[in-house]
Amino acid sequence: MKSGKQRKAEIQQQRAERAARAQALQPRAALPADGVVSCNPQKLAPYNSYGQPDFVARGYYQDTPFVCKDCGKQELWTATRQKWWYEVAGGHVFTQANRCNSCRRKERERVALARHVQQQGQASGSGSAA
Ligand SMILES: [Zn+2]
Repeated sequence: MKSGKQRKAEIQQQRAERAARAQALQPRAALPADGVVSCNPQKLAPYNSYGQPDFVARGYYQDTPFVCKDCGKQELWTATRQKWWYEVAGGHVFTQANRCNSCRRKERERVALARHVQQQGQASGSGSAA
């Protein structure tokens, strides 16, 4: 005859096994092998919580596909880049990538050129362009 203690241990054991099996069946429980970088909420730029960013709730960044708003190309915002953007560059937690690499470079050049032209215009004392 088994003691109550042994019986209890068996039930707990079975319960744990069932829970482990149930977890294995859930796709969410399985982390993708790569494309995932853990998140350090303490390094994030301060934000008024209108809700938690997905990656904070989740605890990690994951590769995120997006469509470039300039050329419409399918791009991947990698977990590594996201961590850099939010935790190193201090990007706002609700901002996301919206341009592909080449469009981002073009946009940077366009802004730099516009600034340059504006500065030249101010230097020559003429506000009007031909
Ligand atoms: Zn683009």
